[in-house]
Amino acid sequence: MREAIESGGLCDRDQFVEEVEERILDPLQREQPGALLLLDLDAFHLVNDSLGHEAGDRLLETVAATLRQECRVDDLPARICADEFALLLQRATPSQAMATAERLIDLVRERGKPAVGASVGIATFGGTGEAITAEGLMIAADIALCEAKEQGGGKAVDGDSGPNLKLTWADRIRDALERERLVVYAQPIFDLRKECVAREELLVRMLDEDDDVIPPSSFLPTAERLGLIVEIDRLVLAKAIELAGRSQPIAVNVSGASLCDPRLIEDVRAAIADGLNPAWLDFEITETAAISNMDHARAFAETVTGMGCGLGLDDFGTGFSSFSYLKDLPIQHLKIDIEFIRDLPRSPTDQRLVQALVQFAKAFGQETVAEGIEDAETLALVRAFDVDFAQGFHIGKPALVDDGRTAAAA
Ligand code: C2E
Ligand code: MG
Ligand code: MG
Repeated sequence: MREAIESGGLCDRDQFVEEVEERILDPLQREQPGALLLLDLDAFHLVNDSLGHEAGDRLLETVAATLRQECRVDDLPARICADEFALLLQRATPSQAMATAERLIDLVRERGKPAVGASVGIATFGGTGEAITAEGLMIAADIALCEAKEQGGGKAVDGDSGPNLKLTWADRIRDALERERLVVYAQPIFDLRKECVAREELLVRMLDEDDDVIPPSSFLPTAERLGLIVEIDRLVLAKAIELAGRSQPIAVNVSGASLCDPRLIEDVRAAIADGLNPAWLDFEITETAAISNMDHARAFAETVTGMGCGLGLDDFGTGFSSFSYLKDLPIQHLKIDIEFIRDLPRSPTDQRLVQALVQFAKAFGQETVAEGIEDAETLALVRAFDVDFAQGFHIGKPALVDDGRTAAAA
C-alpha cells in the first residue's frame, strides 16, 4: 500500500482501515492528537447523470489530486468508495483538522469542473488515552459527515464539537426503533377517473422526547448511511401488510438499501402465504434509488410484480437520467415529482413538461400520479393534462395511522 501512496495512488477502504488501525495502536503515535476526515461530494450523481461518466471521473481525479497535494508526509489519503474520500491527519489538533477540512472544501469547489460542493465529517482522537478503533473512528466521522449534509452540505463538521453529536441522529434512530418511536402516517392517492381514493401511501415519522413529530427528511438520510433504513422500511412494510390484510390498498416506499435486502421480499412472501391478496400492496421506488442500484432494482421489481404487487417510480423526473432504464423495469405508474407540480399554474414550462411526461408514460403503457397538489387550480390542470391520479395536501394531508383511527394531519 505504501507503494500505492508513494506512486501517487490512493489506498482503498480496507487498506486505509488497516493502516489507521496500525497507526493508532502504535504507542508513540497514540499520544499525539490526530483526526480522521471523510469527504463526500454533494450531489455527485447529478454530475454523472447529467454530464456523463467521463465528466464524473475527471471530477473524482481532481479531488484525488487535491487530496494528495494537501497531504503532509505522514498523512494518509484514501478513496473509500465512488465519491467518498478519507484523510488521516497525524499530529493535528481539532482546529488544524477543521482548517484542513475547510481548505479541502474550498479547493474542490475552485478546481472541480463543474464546481461542486463537498462535505467533510471529522473524528478527532489522541491525547486522552481513550481506547479507539479504526472502525470506531470511521463511524464517528461518518456521523459527523451526515450532520454536515443535513446542515445543507458544503461544510465541515467536527463530531466532537457541538451538542454531543456522537449521540445524536444515529442513537436517536436506534432508540426510536427500539422504543417504538417511529410512527406511520398515511396520505390518500386519488383516482381522477373513478373519482375515489385509489390507495394510501404510508409515510414514516419519528416522535421526539416531547412527542413532537420529526419529518423523514431529518432522519432518513442518516438511517440510509448507517444501514438502519432497512429496519425502518420493514417496520413500515409490516404496517402496510397489516392494513392491506384488511383489504385496504396501500403503497409503501422502498429505499435503495432495501432493494438489495432479501428480507423485505421474504416478509411479503410470508404475508401472501398467510392469505394476503398482493394486489392490495403497491411499492414505490425512487428514480434515483432505481438508477443507482439498477440490477437490484430490476430483480426487486420483477419479484414483487411477479408476486402480484403493484410498482411505482417515485419522484419521477428528478434523476437527470436518460430514461432508457424505463424499458427494463415493470413499472405500472410514474409519480411526477412535486418540483414539476408546485408552480404548475404559474409556469408554462412546467405545464409543457407535465404534458410531455404524461405522453411519455402513455407510450410505455404506464399511469401517472401527480404529487404535491396544493390547490384546486393545480388539480384542474393535472386533470386537463390527463394525469391519472393525484396526491397532495389539497386532497388529503398525511394523517397518523392508528389501528384504523386517524389523528391530526402532519
Ligand atoms: P415521497 O414518497 O415522494 O412522499 C411524498 C412526500 O410529499 C411526503 O413527504 C408528503 O408528506 C409530501 N407531500 C404530499 N403532498 C404534499 C403537498 O401537497 N405539498 C408538499 N409540499 N408536500 C406534500 P414526507 O412524508 O416528508 O416524506 C418525504 C420522503 O421521505 C418521501 O417522499 C419518501 O421518499 C421518504 N419516505 C417517507 N416514508 C418512508 C418510508 O417508510 N421508507 C422510505 N424508504 N422512505 C420514506
Ligand atoms: Mg413515495
Ligand atoms: Mg415522491
